[in-house]
Amino acid sequence: MTTPSHLDRLNPEQRAAIETTEGPLLVLAGAGTGKTRVLTTRFAHILLSGRAKPWQILAVTFTNKASREMRERIATLLGEPVEGLWLGTFHALCARMLRRHADYVGLTSSFTILDTDDQLRLLKQVVEPWRVDVKRWPLPGLLGVIHRWKDRGLTPERVTPSEDTEYADGNARAIYAAYQTRLRELNACDFGDLMLHMTEILRSRPDVLEQYQRSFRYILVDEYQDTNTIQYLWLRLLAKRPDGSSNICCVGDDDQSIYSWRGAEVENILRFETDFPGAKIVRLERNYRSTAQILGAASGLIAHNDGRLGKTLRPGRDDAEGEPVRIVGVWDSDAEARTVCERIEAWRRDGHALGEFAILVRAGFQTRAFEERLVQTGIPYRIVGGLRFYERAEIRDAMAYMRVMHHPADDLAFERIVNTPKRGVGPAALQKLHAAARPARMGLTQAARDLIGGGAMRGKTAENIAALLDRLDEARTLVEREGHVVAVGALLEESGYLDMWRNDTSPEAPGRLENLKELVRALADFGSLGEFLEHVALVMDAEGAAEEARVSVMTLHGAKGLEFDTVFLPGWEEGVFPSQRTLDEGGEKGLEEERRLAYVGVTRARHRAIILHAANRRIYANWQESTPSRFLDELPDEYVEREGEVASRQARRDYSGYFSTSVFSDGGSTSLSPLVAKRRKLAEALAAEAPTLEIGSRVFHQKFGYGVVIDADRGAAEVAFEKSGSRRVMASYLELAPD
Ligand code: ATP
Ligand code: MG
Repeated sequence: MTTPSHLDRLNPEQRAAIETTEGPLLVLAGAGTGKTRVLTTRFAHILLSGRAKPWQILAVTFTNKASREMRERIATLLGEPVEGLWLGTFHALCARMLRRHADYVGLTSSFTILDTDDQLRLLKQVVEPWRVDVKRWPLPGLLGVIHRWKDRGLTPERVTPSEDTEYADGNARAIYAAYQTRLRELNACDFGDLMLHMTEILRSRPDVLEQYQRSFRYILVDEYQDTNTIQYLWLRLLAKRPDGSSNICCVGDDDQSIYSWRGAEVENILRFETDFPGAKIVRLERNYRSTAQILGAASGLIAHNDGRLGKTLRPGRDDAEGEPVRIVGVWDSDAEARTVCERIEAWRRDGHALGEFAILVRAGFQTRAFEERLVQTGIPYRIVGGLRFYERAEIRDAMAYMRVMHHPADDLAFERIVNTPKRGVGPAALQKLHAAARPARMGLTQAARDLIGGGAMRGKTAENIAALLDRLDEARTLVEREGHVVAVGALLEESGYLDMWRNDTSPEAPGRLENLKELVRALADFGSLGEFLEHVALVMDAEGAAEEARVSVMTLHGAKGLEFDTVFLPGWEEGVFPSQRTLDEGGEKGLEEERRLAYVGVTRARHRAIILHAANRRIYANWQESTPSRFLDELPDEYVEREGEVASRQARRDYSGYFSTSVFSDGGSTSLSPLVAKRRKLAEALAAEAPTLEIGSRVFHQKFGYGVVIDADRGAAEVAFEKSGSRRVMASYLELAPD
């Protein structure tokens, strides 16, 4: 019998994972081993072999982007798009189910899903009777407590008194119950409720559960290592069918578990065999994504984590070793962005498409320097899974403060900040300001001054507005004495804007504060506030044509499951990556998660991974030396090549004119640390062992046999091999052969 074509080009283990359709199956394998491909092909295989109809397969992906991709891949494998698939994220799938059964949890099928702002507003009303001291127990934190309970599948009734926290003086559980009641009255749910309600329904309504168990003959789950408790419960309920069978296939990699901060439990993967007796475990060991060098580097890095399940990862691509992972030391974040863009430009000139490149950052604030440089050099880019730096809410707020400071008649900006943070300025007060401003053809700030000064506006709100106007005046005076950077810093501080985020305990708040710091840092690059505002307006205007190929810029978290030819990994410095928060909290656990994140980053690359670290970062107007990330030392020397290590600003205080020098491009001729010097010696010694390759030399390679050199530079050579054609290999792997 011939193999069906969708099973072509798969290795035996992958085929086993696809063809073992019946019974529980766990595919446990490292990055790039084809887990997602197995899942997609398995989907197609089940359909093509007639085992199930499209709507009888439940497939769960981690992001909407991943579901779209899987949908496309399945359509390609089948040769036509299929309708009626149950394919999506946990939340999307639950929302769809819940619309059908909403009445079981006291909702109607048209329930609304609240966003975070709405949730907070609602919670604020709900907590009233408890008189919670919101300074001590900020509401976003309380919402966080509730969300974590939901992640764990705990309805208010299931939260035992011992689970209750200190939060809100021990009233969190009661508030949670009241919050759920209010949501129900409003025919609304929050994101966590989608899973919570649906799981409750499956738990309490055997008829509904059985209907789904019968309907979903096969269940497929990607990125299983990042499921949280409620997702796990939901899956387990659906997978254990009445006749005792469970056709569930989960794929995952414990080394890529990076969402514990959102309640993910890597233990779910360890428990699989106990949960589903008779489960088969398939291990995939060949990585088809990355070159041997990239794999070697990534494997060496992750080996520093304890308590891993342990997996073998071997290069599966039959082309060359590839290039070593490059570690590039640069002077500062500007040089970092410049280096990355210069290289992209150079490769682009060589015919590489922009879509092949990705810049993966640890934290959102890092994108700013790259975005500006990309705009300046005219390289189209897209921020994946997030907003561009200057579009983020906190940046827009802070920019609005600056605009009013710079230009008091900027009414749009004033409207944005007048009640941010809350100053009791509601629509009525704004109305009053407008009514006074319009006929007099004056700005809102002037109108406010007049109304308050003349006693026409009084009370707490008027006091608050007056205080804001004073802060703005002070900031304007401060510019003269201390410069615009200090003045803006003071304004954001004194107006209470920064405190607003400091008091916010939602998971996004620290990132927003980092973004704000970065904004003030950027300000220091400009001579005046006016120049800066002008610059931002130009950057914001530079959105190119929509559909052309672009460089992807995103966080490491957002890059999970994706792959790119060339990946830039900037900011590998202590305090950036691993993050300051992780370092502050101490704990080996947090550090291991950061290391997994680094592993995810490196393994996104197919051909080239370039890691950068800057010797100096600016904190407000001051420079601070940074220490290269510990992860750099954990990358095995044999798979990395270090370039242009630079000394920190401290050591080069006397050096001027560095802004215009590309520190990297001079090859790092500046003072080298002893370690770097040693490495360099080693590299030179190694290079000396490599034969001098001339174009036309006949050479021998252990793996590819005989060939002729067609190009050679810095330790690598392009060789036309007699058996396998032309490919790039490391020069040290070649021996000169007799003609
Ligand atoms: P991650 O852990 O990062 O999610 P993964 O295990 O899901 O990775 P895939 O994304 O499925 O890996 O596959 C990685 C790459 O290898 C893809 O480009 C895929 O098409 C390719 N690939 C997978 N299996 C094979 C194979 N047998 N032969 C050739 N290429 C393959
Ligand atoms: Mg995958």
